[in-house]
Amino acid sequence: SHRIMLGPLVAAIDQGTSSTRFLVFNSKTAELLSHHQVEIKQSFPKEGWVEEDPKEILQSVYECMERTCEKLTQLNIDISNIKAIGVTNQRETTLVWDKETGEPLYNAIVWLDLRTQSTVERLINKTPGRNKNHLKHKTGLPISTYFSAVKLRWLMDNVDEVHKAVVSHRAMFGTVDSWLIWCLTGGKSGGVHCTDVTNASRTMLFNIHTMDWDPELCKYFGIPMEILPRVRSSSEIYGLMKICSSRKSGALSGIPISGCLGDQSAALVGQMCFQDGQAKNTYGTGCFLLRNTGVKPVMSEHGLLTTVAYKLGRDKPACYALEGSVAIAGAVVRWLQDNLGIIGSSEELEKLAASVGTSYGCYFVPAFSGLYAPYWEPSARGIICGLTQFTNKSHLAFAALEAVCFQTREILDAMNQDSGIPLTQLQVDGGMTSNKLLMQLQADILCIPVVKPSMPETTALGAAMAAGAAEGVSVWSLNPEDLSEVTSEKFEPQINPEESEFRYARWKKAVEKSMNWET
Ligand code: ADP
Repeated sequence: SHRIMLGPLVAAIDQGTSSTRFLVFNSKTAELLSHHQVEIKQSFPKEGWVEEDPKEILQSVYECMERTCEKLTQLNIDISNIKAIGVTNQRETTLVWDKETGEPLYNAIVWLDLRTQSTVERLINKTPGRNKNHLKHKTGLPISTYFSAVKLRWLMDNVDEVHKAVVSHRAMFGTVDSWLIWCLTGGKSGGVHCTDVTNASRTMLFNIHTMDWDPELCKYFGIPMEILPRVRSSSEIYGLMKICSSRKSGALSGIPISGCLGDQSAALVGQMCFQDGQAKNTYGTGCFLLRNTGVKPVMSEHGLLTTVAYKLGRDKPACYALEGSVAIAGAVVRWLQDNLGIIGSSEELEKLAASVGTSYGCYFVPAFSGLYAPYWEPSARGIICGLTQFTNKSHLAFAALEAVCFQTREILDAMNQDSGIPLTQLQVDGGMTSNKLLMQLQADILCIPVVKPSMPETTALGAAMAAGAAEGVSVWSLNPEDLSEVTSEKFEPQINPEESEFRYARWKKAVEKSMNWET
């Protein structure tokens, strides 16, 4: 086997909902050289509440960098070859910290959190015609519990520490990218308070046409603009890493942090969906299908979001995407494991479901956080229906996997209707795609092939590519002539379309019930 000379290396911090990773790529080959992953604890202090500890998030990043640097040293790879570091993150998750002490003032409120449901309903009721799309012309988003502005409002109204810090001009707001970049560039001693356009576009405070914070939106939510981070492009030098030299990862000090993208945008870049019309679907805690619409924001008629896809350089144009967001995908696997205890690990789910190969007429709508796209119905709740004496946990496991596929089908249908050009295959990635049964089911339910790249860390690759681009290190994957080298796995539809349609129609009935079960 031939050894490829190591060129410059690029790295990425991938801070997801369920775990943190640090990954180092060879920029010439996009080969993943070394990485480390640490799980993140989620706490559910009250029904519908989802929190994470900002300090644990930061520590997990340090831990991943430390272990990855150790592994690189063992591989005889010089850490000084790393030329740029990118950050990609769970989006919308909301933090406030004190810029003088550097301390977080509350836990991070995770995107899935439902505590703002009554606030959201009140806001919608106040709009003309009770229109949840009242702010969509500026933000591309419906008023929903999902986005940061309402979470930030809740923090200011309900957490004394936050309120005090805001009035005494000590508060900083940020999504996870801002928190990490601020801490990693020096924190209270000179840290850079910034975010990128993709993360900003998920706050509901950002105008996706002017590409800046919008004073009217800030006024609407009562957010003082001085607590907001500066908005930058997704690929430019934000600051230099500052890490204590006593750590192994101290060798990363001085390396520019020069890429920043919300995780779904990063996956779009990592999957090289740079052309208008190209799309990818990522299966993690939730599931997110994004379709590049080029330099024009397209407003959906079918319940999709309009979001900033990326802006790869200060002087480069912004590209937009239509997005279908599903709140609960991998999270349903965690629920079967942690709440019901019917599986010991996510890998067990596949075996259990495969042992029956059918849900036996059972449908499971995991609307734990209401329903996101295309319904945007915060009051929906989960239901399992179609149970008989015969139903067992294997059928339930199968129904849970099918739920992920049906939700994707609903989004794909909306996407096809909005664009008028149906997708002929679906590019996928994310933690759940290691489940082959899920991938096959997805192809069956969509009636189009599902294609999975052999290098699954596309989110991290996208962030590393953005970081490299800012530092003049072009990553292999940016060269279209290299694309032929991408190996991938393809899942072809195997059931007939009639059967697929029949099951999908049943699913839709179940969804209706999940939205109306109280009435
Ligand atoms: P995130 O970026 O949201 O943290 P990941 O892309 O890391 O998510 O994927 C993790 C999610 O995928 C978890 O919710 C986990 O339950 C799920 N998952 C991982 N492996 C499997 C599997 N083999 N089958 C089903 N679900 C899986």
